[in-house]
Amino acid sequence: MDLTLAADADRIPALLDTVRDHAGRVLAGLADRPAAGSPRQGPARPLPEHGIGTERALAEFAARWEPGFSASAGPRYLGFVTGGATPAAVAGDWLATAHDQNVAATHDSSATDLERETLRWLGELLDLGTAHSGAFVTGATMSNLVGLAIGREWLGERAGISVAEDGAAALGPVPILSGAAHSSVFKALAMLGLGRKNLRTIPTLDGREAVDPDRLAEALDALDGRPAIVVANAGTVNTVDFDDLRAVAALRERYPFWLHVDGAFGAFAALSPAHEHLVAGLAEADSVCVDLHKWLNVPYDSAAQFTRRKDLQLRVFQNAAAYLGVPADDPAFVHLTPENSRRLRALPAWFALAAYGRQGHREIVERDIALARRLGQRIEELPGLRLLAPVRLNVVCFTLAENPTPERVNALAEVIAADGRAFLTPTEYDGTRALRAAFSNWRTTEADVERIAEAIADAARAVPPSR
Ligand SMILES: *Cc1c(COP(=O)(O)O)cnc(C)c1O
Repeated sequence: MDLTLAADADRIPALLDTVRDHAGRVLAGLADRPAAGSPRQGPARPLPEHGIGTERALAEFAARWEPGFSASAGPRYLGFVTGGATPAAVAGDWLATAHDQNVAATHDSSATDLERETLRWLGELLDLGTAHSGAFVTGATMSNLVGLAIGREWLGERAGISVAEDGAAALGPVPILSGAAHSSVFKALAMLGLGRKNLRTIPTLDGREAVDPDRLAEALDALDGRPAIVVANAGTVNTVDFDDLRAVAALRERYPFWLHVDGAFGAFAALSPAHEHLVAGLAEADSVCVDLHKWLNVPYDSAAQFTRRKDLQLRVFQNAAAYLGVPADDPAFVHLTPENSRRLRALPAWFALAAYGRQGHREIVERDIALARRLGQRIEELPGLRLLAPVRLNVVCFTLAENPTPERVNALAEVIAADGRAFLTPTEYDGTRALRAAFSNWRTTEADVERIAEAIADAARAVPPSR
């Protein structure tokens, strides 16, 4: 054995204590670190011929790389839709690494059953009913990909072919209809050979990002009975708007289509009695995408996909190999997901749900919604800023009141990021350059919202009138 490795192996508990202390300091200091990191990294170094051991590697990491890391796990990082990691989720993640299970097959570990239990819990949490089965994947993009792949196979079934066997070309062009699809849906279509250009954007309701069900019905009607895929949205990233899922699902009585719902973070509205109506009908979907590294607050990378047609999922993803055996009624995850070897990414979610339960997670969701509302009110009061949409759930979408050119709004984002108290990402909504503040971290408090509002107000004053 390499001497440095052997020396590390002799003192694993002590090394992990050192790393634990370090991680404890990182987490304790999250609220004081600048929300945005800096990509600067200094000169590249060559591959070491001989290693320096874990302790010195930690010191080098702490000196060279860590100072540039963002506080994305912290309370005032509001860019994209970014969750943190609850204490139980961190613990589960560490143990997933320590046990290093490969949740591919079923015969040598209880890890598969742990993943199944976690998925059942998630289904209950999100009110999915019992008709869906699920699997863990790395993120909502992959969850969308799996759902659309099953939908593609369903189209094949209707045409009397198997796309998995015969290829996407055998299907011909597929109409994919959606109101305000997330960018990752286009990416999934590209990966699946369905093609980005085949997504037809259906008009949304006036002043909304929710699809107009009448216009969707018209588009389906125009297909003359040709089966399609409809991607419904439960939580758009700019204004967190929701398609009327029940109205969309009801269209299946008249038109043949696979209903995929992208509920990456919006599905968590089900946890709040005041907002659960937004996701009414979710259980009627043929496939559902839910991100877990957003509002469940587990570490990256974690999402779940659910479907009613595990049989079709098996056709697409089965990994026929003699040593893995023939898939049975309850196929191993290796036969259901893009990955073959798979990390036990269910464990952080299992820990989070075991530790805090439905009520603990409901509190996080409701608090984040209340904090977004509060920031929305503060933005309305602040001179120089205006809301671009009502705060429907956990995202505040706003811009400069005067002259919101892309240059000025980008400058606002840059000033906020450089200040460090908060981090927000720019977007374009309704033809206007804007900023989004997305609340999905368990750590954020009302005091944070005050600091965020002050940082935004200071930055708005600092942006030059025109650039
Ligand atoms: C974040 C998000 C995605 C993509 O999720 P990843 O986890 O980054 O792959 C897809 N859809 C919606 C609505 C999202 O918010």
